[in-house]
Amino acid sequence: MARSSAPALPRIRVLATGGTIAGAQVQGGRGYKAAAFSVDALIAAVPQLGELAQLEVEPVAAIGSQDMDEATWRKLATRAQAALDDPAIAGVVITHGTDTMEETAFFLNLVVRTEKPVVLVGAMRPATAISADGPMNLFNAIAVAAHPAARDRGVLVVANDEVHFAREIAKTNTTQVGTFASGHRGLAGLVNSGRIHFYAPPVRRHTARSEFAPLPAATSPSESSRPRVDIIYAHAGMGRELIDAAVRAGARGLIIAGVGDGNLSALAQTACAEAARAGLAIVRSSRTGGGVVERNIEIDDDRHGFIASDELNPQKARVLLVLGLTRTCDPHALQEMFFTY
Ligand code: GLU
Repeated sequence: MARSSAPALPRIRVLATGGTIAGAQVQGGRGYKAAAFSVDALIAAVPQLGELAQLEVEPVAAIGSQDMDEATWRKLATRAQAALDDPAIAGVVITHGTDTMEETAFFLNLVVRTEKPVVLVGAMRPATAISADGPMNLFNAIAVAAHPAARDRGVLVVANDEVHFAREIAKTNTTQVGTFASGHRGLAGLVNSGRIHFYAPPVRRHTARSEFAPLPAATSPSESSRPRVDIIYAHAGMGRELIDAAVRAGARGLIIAGVGDGNLSALAQTACAEAARAGLAIVRSSRTGGGVVERNIEIDDDRHGFIASDELNPQKARVLLVLGLTRTCDPHALQEMFFTY
C-alpha cells in the first residue's frame, strides 16, 4: 500500500464572530449586512486554504463588531484558550469585524495564555463586493497562524498583506482596505500570498507572560461586563457634565481621550480630580492617534492621582483598565500596568 511521506498539515481552529468578511451587499442598495455568510462558505470559496492547513470552524458569534462586548470577549477568550490548550491544534484564527478588531485583539493579547499563534482577520469589503479583500486576508491569516515563526509574538492581526501586533494596530480609515496602521513601533511583518516576512518581536508583555492570563471564569453573567469603564472625548469648550454623568452611572474608571498630550479643560480636570479622590481610576490618553502621553507634563498627575496611558490609544487604554481594575484600584499599580503592557 502506498504511503504518503508528506507531513500532516497543521490543524488550525477558526473561531467565527461575524463582520464584513462574512458580509453581503444589500440587493440594489449601497449598504451591506455584516455576518450574513458562514465562515464555512468563505473557506469553501478559497480551495487553496487546503494546501496550508487542516481547518476546523467553530462559530462563537455572528455580529458586526460594533456590537462586540465584554461578555463576547470572555466567550471568545475561553474558546480560544480551549483550542490552544489542545496539543493537536497549532494555532487559532478569529474572523472579526474591523471596527473594534484592535480592541478584541488587545484583550486577547492580555488574557490568552499561549505561545501558539493567534491571528485575527477581517475585511473591509463584503464577500459579494467587486474585488473583495476577505479571501486573500483569510488565506494570509491561515498562512501566518500555521507558521512556526508566528509563535510567541502575541496576538496578531492580518489585513491588506500586513501583519500587525495587537498592541500597535489601529483602524485609521472608514472604508479603505489599507485602513490598519501600526504607528510608531511598526509592523510585525508582511505577508504576500502566504509568503511571510517577520520583523522584530513585540516590545511589551503579552499572552503567556501576561498577569491577566488565563482569564478566570466569570461566576455570574453581570460579572462579565464589569468593571464599568467609560471613554470621554475631550474638545475645545469641554465641560464637566459627562464626567459627572459617568461617575453617577457607576463607572469605576474613566479614559479621557484628551486633546494633544492627554490634556483636558480646567473644568474637566477638576471633575476628574474629584472622581479620582472618590476612588475612580482616571487615565489620560490622547485623541491625536500618535505619540506618548507622559506623566506630569501639563497636568500634575502625582497631585491628582491620575494615570498616563503611555502609548495606548483611548480604546486600548480602556481594555487594559477594565482588566487592571479586576486586580487593583491603586493608581500607582495601574500606572505600572500601562508601562508594562
Ligand atoms: N461594522 C462592521 C464590523 O466591524 C463591518 C466593518 C468591517 O467588518 O469591516 O463588523
